[in-house]
Amino acid sequence: MAVVAAAAELALLAYGDQVAGCTRCALAEARTQVVFGAGSPTAELMFVGEAPGFHEDKNGVPFVGAAGKLLSKLLDGIGLSRDDVYICNTVKCRPPGNRNPLPEELEACETHLFRQIEIIQPRLVATLGNFATKLLSGKPAGITQVHGREQQVVLGGRPVTLYPIFHPAAALYTPRMLQVLEDDFRRIPELLGLEPAPAAPEPVAPVAVPPPAAPVEQPLQLGLF
Ligand code: URA
Repeated sequence: MAVVAAAAELALLAYGDQVAGCTRCALAEARTQVVFGAGSPTAELMFVGEAPGFHEDKNGVPFVGAAGKLLSKLLDGIGLSRDDVYICNTVKCRPPGNRNPLPEELEACETHLFRQIEIIQPRLVATLGNFATKLLSGKPAGITQVHGREQQVVLGGRPVTLYPIFHPAAALYTPRMLQVLEDDFRRIPELLGLEPAPAAPEPVAPVAVPPPAAPVEQPLQLGLF
């Protein structure tokens, strides 16, 4: 097992180094750096978000802004930490102004995501929001329709359970979404074959949203529904 983990870690590091210089699409021109992914190279659970935002582009780590803080709290609520899972995005570079990724950017970047899945070999892939869900399910159904309902798919040449959930940013701007997210998160341990999460978990405290007048950042990721 230790040998498998070391091999996966090396493969992921090598692939990350390669992707750091990616110029497959125009997002390469405006990025500070590629935001490849973070977490365990042998994670059973992988989260796939949309695209890096302002903070992710600056730090080189996915989900470190307000949505990321909520993701960490939701993980904590089911007894997991960021080190237990792997977190990445459909596109690895920040779209200017946090606009939605364009079809050609998603297409250019999907090889990187599929290679990550191939190396990590997760059993469960939780897609956060519309873009990741549509890309990895290969179906047009939006997140409002399919959230909280697992699907069996083949990714990276292996059978994987796909679990669409709302993007955490949705709960930052629509507080009633928090309950939906918590309910969907509570099923994750069961889908991993672990002990069920407690029936009444600690409520997740809302994460403060930066004031809209902030001069440089627009953290809202569009296209969540
Ligand atoms: N939103 C995303 O989809 N990904 C990030 O890394 C941060 C915010």
